[in-house]
Amino acid sequence: MKRELYVLEDSKLVRKRRFCPRCGPGVFLAEHADRFTCGRCGYTEIKKEPKAQEQKPKETKPKAKKEKAPAKKEAEKKEEQKKE
Ligand SMILES: [Zn+2]
Repeated sequence: MKRELYVLEDSKLVRKRRFCPRCGPGVFLAEHADRFTCGRCGYTEIKKEPKAQEQKPKETKPKAKKEKAPAKKEAEKKEEQKKE
C-alpha cells in the first residue's frame, strides 16, 4: 500500500487522488493545476471552477422617462393658426 496516496482526515481514510473511470480502481489520475489525467489511457478530466457563478446580473436602472415632446400639439397649433 502506497501511503502517500492517502491522507488521514478526521480518522477517516480519504482518497487523495481519483481513480480513472476508464481503467477502474487501482489506476490513479495524475493531478495537474487545472485537470486530472490518466497516464495509462490518456483520460483527461478538467477541473471545474467554482467561480463560475460569481457573475452577477447587472442591474439595469430604468431610464429616466423623457417627457414626450408635444409634437402633435404643435402640429395642432399650426393647423389652428391656419384656421385663424
Ligand atoms: Zn485510464
